[in-house]
This record gives sequence, structure tokens and C-alpha cells, in this order.
Amino acid sequence: MKQILIQHGLPDYAARLDDLMKEWKSGEYSRLVFHVFSAFSEEEPLRTLSMQLKEAFPDSDVLGAVSAGEICEARLMEPGILISAMLFTCTDVRVVKYDDIKGHEVRVGQVITETVAEIPEIKAVELIMTGTEFNTRMIFEEVSKCKPGVQVFGGYAGGHSMEVGEHYIFDENGLTDNKIFAVYYSGKDFHIDVDKSVGWQRLGHHFTVTKADESRMIELDHRPAVEVYEKYLQIDRNDHFAENTFEFPLIAAVEEDELLRHTIQVEEDGTLDLAGYVTEGMKIYLCFGNPSLIVQHVNQRIDEVRRFQPQAILLYSCSVRKSFWEDFVDMEMLPFAKLATTAGFHTWGEVKRNPITGNVLEYNITLLSIAMREGDASSVEIPPLKIDDTVLRGQASLIKRLTTLVSATTAELQNAYRNLETMNDRLTFLSQYDALTGIYNRRKIEEVIEGKLVKAAEENRKVSLLMFDIDFFKAVNDTYGHGTGDSVLVEMTRIFRDVICSVPGGHLGRWGGEEFFAVIPDYDSDGAVAFAEKLRKRVEEHSFSGITGNLTISIGVITANGTEDRQMLYKNVDDCLYFAKQNGRNQVVRFES
Ligand code: GH3
Ligand code: MG
Ligand code: MG
Repeated sequence: MKQILIQHGLPDYAARLDDLMKEWKSGEYSRLVFHVFSAFSEEEPLRTLSMQLKEAFPDSDVLGAVSAGEICEARLMEPGILISAMLFTCTDVRVVKYDDIKGHEVRVGQVITETVAEIPEIKAVELIMTGTEFNTRMIFEEVSKCKPGVQVFGGYAGGHSMEVGEHYIFDENGLTDNKIFAVYYSGKDFHIDVDKSVGWQRLGHHFTVTKADESRMIELDHRPAVEVYEKYLQIDRNDHFAENTFEFPLIAAVEEDELLRHTIQVEEDGTLDLAGYVTEGMKIYLCFGNPSLIVQHVNQRIDEVRRFQPQAILLYSCSVRKSFWEDFVDMEMLPFAKLATTAGFHTWGEVKRNPITGNVLEYNITLLSIAMREGDASSVEIPPLKIDDTVLRGQASLIKRLTTLVSATTAELQNAYRNLETMNDRLTFLSQYDALTGIYNRRKIEEVIEGKLVKAAEENRKVSLLMFDIDFFKAVNDTYGHGTGDSVLVEMTRIFRDVICSVPGGHLGRWGGEEFFAVIPDYDSDGAVAFAEKLRKRVEEHSFSGITGNLTISIGVITANGTEDRQMLYKNVDDCLYFAKQNGRNQVVRFES
């Protein structure tokens, strides 16, 4: 196969067409397909040009797209019209043009999938289309069902101007925004390799899309979506919003892939209108173009294409990359021209099928490189090539250094953020648990008790509170030292926990010193007293390690229905405990009104 590039309107235009005619008449080729990329969107000249091509080359097909930049020999050319003539020797190239897409998206997607199923040795489907008039996601969902291994790729048409858009494709029938050109490439000896390169880097932590409607991102983490730009980048809602957010698009993480999305405009309620759909539940990151990373990613891809040994290359590169690189846009494309004739256009969206999931997705900000070959790769390999990024000077060099700084600090911040999260977990633990015994502290047990009391009142049930204190504990400290005192407290807590936490809904906390509090639901007063007795006996019968003789506890018990005055409730149970102490200790005293 061979790709011949002709720029319309240049002085040698007629001569180049003659050369193409000679090549075509040589009899070596069986199929001719024209891709026409135009910076202009006036219908008549484009229709006329397409008709002229069809007339001169009767069995050819013309696929025209209004473009945001015409890529000729891997360089952005002066705005004009680029004709790429692709001549095939043994590939069957079927071109089908689908009309009237709007409202029939699912059906169109099904027809494409059915067509793929019909064609033997099908290798790839190219889709040249617009992304504005109809729901492309619905089409892609159907096309994703194509048999595995078939590549799907393409680009969205749209003019140079951000404001006007001019999203049209064209051919001999004129200009339209409600049509799809599909090119089915098949044949045993046709080989194709499609992949994307990005190089935009995630910034900070993720947000979750909590409300979305196709390409309208309404809420992130339940807040108006615009707030991520306001809060983190101080980009306010004004007429320049799209311009200002341009350098910081969004990355949506989807299974095994990432979709970049840039903002077209912000609505009054803070909804962001994106170039491409998002769905609820998607994880979204802010990101920025990191020149070093871009160069690294594209270099990887250049090497893959080099090994593939293409005979023709198409580059479908997002118009955002053109705006990002400005004067240096050729830099990332030029090496491709050393591998094969390279043509393409700057797009308003890129289409690619994920080879692992089979999903056909719409991307933004990617550089799609499509390498084609007929027959086997030659045994002579082209030596490795790399992007020459020494051309990055001035502004771009400054960006390169600043982004290095930002990525280094982002990594540090993310690390600090993770440490903070660990620390926060620890603090949460410390604010609820007692350090010595590991049971709830006073604050937490009070909170739990309050919850139980409220619930008891609501459900008309009972709940009992137990307040207990170790008898003559001071003597343990005095006799054996504070260390033994501590371990006795820990051992004692284990008994408390065994007894109290074995009751469903039973909770235990350290009130302070050697005083504890427990809550048990659903017992009546007698039941609660019996339960407290059981606890008291368990302690009395236990022999603690490190001390001679046994220890006892005194317990105050109150059974409540949750409607009581809280202060009185605590005072009453405290009085019971005091009474148990006064009355000789090692006993249970219940509150009786
Ligand atoms: P009573 O039967 O009247 O409760 O006598 P008691 O000796 O247990 O009561 P008192 O209030 O006189 O003394 C309580 C002791 O408990 C004093 C204090 O040092 C000790 N204590 C409180 N918290 C801890 C602790 O965390 N570790 C140790 N080792 N001792 C503690
Ligand atoms: Mg005591
Ligand atoms: Mg005490």
C-alpha cells in the first residue's frame, strides 16, 4: 500500500494529481480511498472538490472532515485542505456512509456490528464523524459488541475555532453533521496497529461523579462540579472559564483505561459541559499536560510503530494538544514521518477500542496513531527514533520545569496525605478507646449509652446501666506497685468484657480510674441484678496473677426506659454504687424509686 499526500490549492496541485493518476493507472493497486481534511467549512468548494476526485477516480471513496489542524508529513500545515490518497493492493476497503443518525444511534451501532460480522478477515473499522449532533456513546456501546480483535478507531470533525465549532464531515453529497463515514478494512494481508498516547498527569486526589447527564457533569462528591476548579485552581465562573481550565482538564478513570475530558463551558448552577460523556460513579482527577511525560509516552508509541514497520500512518490528534504545544506541536509527531508517509488531522474527540475490554470509547486530548501495512514486515528494521525535545525553549521549557516541580510536590503531598489518613485513624481510635485496657473510654461509652436510651424510649424497651468500682484497689498499688496495679486492671477488664460483651447489645467502658460502666439492653430490673451478681461472682472467684488473695467489686444497677432525666439517671446509679461501698462492698445494689 501507499499513501500520497496532496495539498489542495498549492501551485503543484494539478501535477500531483497527475502523478497520483499515473500511480493508480499502473495497475498495481486495486482500491483507492481519499481522506480529505479541511480547515474551511464552506459547503460548495468542498462538495466540488469531492466530486472532482470522484470523477477523476471513479471507484474511489471520499471521506472529508472539517478539521482543527491538517497534519501533512507529520507537521501541522498552514490552514488549508489536505488530501491523503491511500492506495491498497490486496486490502478490501468497504466504505459505508450512514445518514440520519440522530435518534437512531443504537440501530446504527448495531448495523456497524452486523457489518463487521459479515466481512471475512475484517481487521478494523474507522469512523469519521461529528460528536455534537447525536449520542455517540450509544453508538459505541453497540459497536463494543463487535467480535474481539477487530480494531475500531476514528476522529471527530470540527473546525479551528473553539467558539464556532463547525463540526462537519463532507463528501460529493455536501456537508453534514448528522452522518457517519465508516471504513471497513479487511484482508488476510492487511495489518493495522492502533494506539493512543496521552501524557497528561493526575493532580491530587480523586472526586466521584455523583450526578451526570451524558456530557454534563453536574456534581462531584455531591457538590457542584465547578467547585473543583474554584477551590483547587482558583478558576472562577466567567466568560473565560473554558480557556482557563484548558490547561487543567479532567481524567476519568474507567476500567483499565482513562478518559480525558476538557470543559467547554460552565452553566449557571455550576454544571460543567464537557467534550465527551461521563457517568455517575466515575472517579475523576484534575490533570495537566506534563511535557516530559508526554514525550515519554509518545516515544514509547513511536517505538511500537517502528517495530510494526508501517507503509502508511494516520495521526488523529486532539486539538487540545495543538493548543497545548503551540509552536512545538510538530515535535511529538515528526518522528512518525520517518517511519512512513504520515497524514491526519486535529480532532474534537478520538475514538478507539480498548483491546482488553473490547469497549469502544471516546477520548479527548490523545494522540491516536494508526499504522497500516500490507503483507509481512520487512527484515530491515529502521533504527530507533526519539522525539527531539531539545527544541523546547522559553515558555515550554518553563512549563516542563514547573510541571516537574508540581509532580514532585504532588507526590510528596499525596504521601503526606496518606500519613495524615493513618494518623487520623489513630486519633479516632485514641479519642474513643482507653489506652490501658483497650475498651471504650468515658466519652464513647456515654455516647453509646445515650444511643441505647434513645432507642429504648422509641421502641418502648428497657435498658440497664451498671456502674462498678474495684474494692480497695489502692491497696493493690500500695502493696505491689503501680505496674502490677495496671496489669490487674487489664486482667479485670478481660473478665468484664467476657461477661458483658457476650450479651447481644452489651457494651463496656472505663469511666475513670478503677471505675467502669456497662449498658445491657432488654433485661428487667431483676434480670439486670442477676446479671450484675454473675459479674460480681466472676471477679470474686478469679485469682489474679501477681497478687495473693482475691479482689472484689461493688456494683450499682439501674433499669431505665430511656425517658428519664439523664443527670438524675447517672446520679441514681452512682448513689447505688456509693451505697454498696458504704454497706460493706462486694455487693450489688439496685436503684429503687
Ligand atoms: P474503694 O473500695 O473505696 O473503691 O477503695 P479504693 O482503694 O479502690 O479507692 P480509692 O479511690 O481510694 O483509690 C483508687 C485507686 O485506684 C487510687 C489510684 O491510684 C488507683 N488507680 C486509678 N487508676 C489507676 C490506674 O490506671 N493504674 C493503677 N495502677 N492504679 C490506678
Ligand atoms: Mg475502688
Ligand atoms: Mg474509685
